[in-house]
Amino acid sequence: MKRRTKIVATIGPASGSPEMIGQLIDNGVNVFRLNFSHGSQDGHRKQAQIIRDVLAEKETYAAILGDLQGPKIRIGDLDNEPLPLVNGAKITLTVDGEKPQSENVVFVQYPTLPESVAAGDTLLLDDGLIRLVVDAVNGKDVLCSVQIGGLLKSRKGLNRLGGGLSAAAITEKDMKDIELAAELKLDYLAVSFPSCADDLNPVKERLAELGVKIKIIAKVERAEAVACDKVLDALICASDGVMVARGDLGVEIGDAQLIGVQKKIIQHARNHNRPVITATQMMESMITNPVPTRAEVFDVANAVLDGSDAVMLSAETATGQYPAQVVAAMATTCIGAEQHPDIQKSSYRFDRQIDCIDEAIALSTIYVTHHLKGLAAVICLTESGNTALMASRLNSELPIYGISRHRQVCNQMALFGGVVPTHFDINDETAECVFDDAMQLVASKEGLKPGQKVAIMCGSLTGRSNGTDTLRILEYR
Ligand code: PGA
Ligand code: MN
Repeated sequence: MKRRTKIVATIGPASGSPEMIGQLIDNGVNVFRLNFSHGSQDGHRKQAQIIRDVLAEKETYAAILGDLQGPKIRIGDLDNEPLPLVNGAKITLTVDGEKPQSENVVFVQYPTLPESVAAGDTLLLDDGLIRLVVDAVNGKDVLCSVQIGGLLKSRKGLNRLGGGLSAAAITEKDMKDIELAAELKLDYLAVSFPSCADDLNPVKERLAELGVKIKIIAKVERAEAVACDKVLDALICASDGVMVARGDLGVEIGDAQLIGVQKKIIQHARNHNRPVITATQMMESMITNPVPTRAEVFDVANAVLDGSDAVMLSAETATGQYPAQVVAAMATTCIGAEQHPDIQKSSYRFDRQIDCIDEAIALSTIYVTHHLKGLAAVICLTESGNTALMASRLNSELPIYGISRHRQVCNQMALFGGVVPTHFDINDETAECVFDDAMQLVASKEGLKPGQKVAIMCGSLTGRSNGTDTLRILEYR
């Protein structure tokens, strides 16, 4: 059975070999994530090449997404680790690099921490596993009590409940990684911790200077980014896609809030014609177990029902023991969730005005998929992938074949829910017979029977973007 929801897999030591990349593709990965928080530039260079070689060998398309580390606030390297923190113990977080560390003094790489927190604040270490309460601030030291203890390891993240800890949006390391993304001509680049739309600008400006077009994914992982709809909508609109980055967002706003916020981010992204990835701890137990828990299956399923284009695996595939199995489990779960009638219907955006012709065609086409008998597939001849994206914002049961002459556009379309990226060399000679050829191609993949129909949306086929102005419906004979 075909799957509409896409799978993003983070690649790391457990999954980088050509053999494993091949298995991940076979089991359903559509987007490979290179996490720039780990590994070396050379390592990422080699990894991108391996992924591209295997994709070319298998004649299939998947996107490569680079993920910038961003200004994540972390504790420093511990002299002795893990450091056990027991409930009720006193611990000092210091920004004074000269101060000797001990079992109750831990260095934090964030010089303005003492000014940014106050007595009574809750601080979370290691994605919320360890919880501290600030007792007092004293010069360069923040004195805390351990509220929920645990084993602290070097370089773990630090968040404040409610948000508000923010360093400069882009670090020096990020700048180097942006250059790497440009050199590797990645399909997507994720920006970590933007608190508003403007925080994406330095990345966009640098990419423009470097002369490359890489689509930007805004990771929504700060309390400020979801504090009001205006900020969230502006951030979504400034991006080419968003990630519900539940690891950091969950610790900043609390998991109870996150339930509704996840649904809201996904709905807003879809309404603004942006693809959306739901990420983090989706099948966490499969880092060490060969099967997911039922709760995890339902978490993935609910993210699908919420309208995610893609669901993401982090440590499960990067360092876990069962990378191939977790992708298979996720794929099966997505297909199961997609059987729910809610996501096969669409509400047609009856309440909305449309201001561009290509969107009108895209939405009309999806309207037709629900009402025309015998329609078996939608074909979208696209320069930029944009029409395929717009069509895929509405739910439909039918596959949307995104056909482009540009291989990078095919890779990028791999992220869009319900879109099957297909490369097809449309040129002046083929323009005449492109409709027939496209239909034949889809007929072979879908096993069309005579009398079935396909809906094709297209423009002038002259290589102009945003030129889709035509919907044609052809019968297969
Ligand atoms: P990270 O982002 O894995 O880079 O932290 C995802 C998240 O915060 O959920
Ligand atoms: Mn994060």
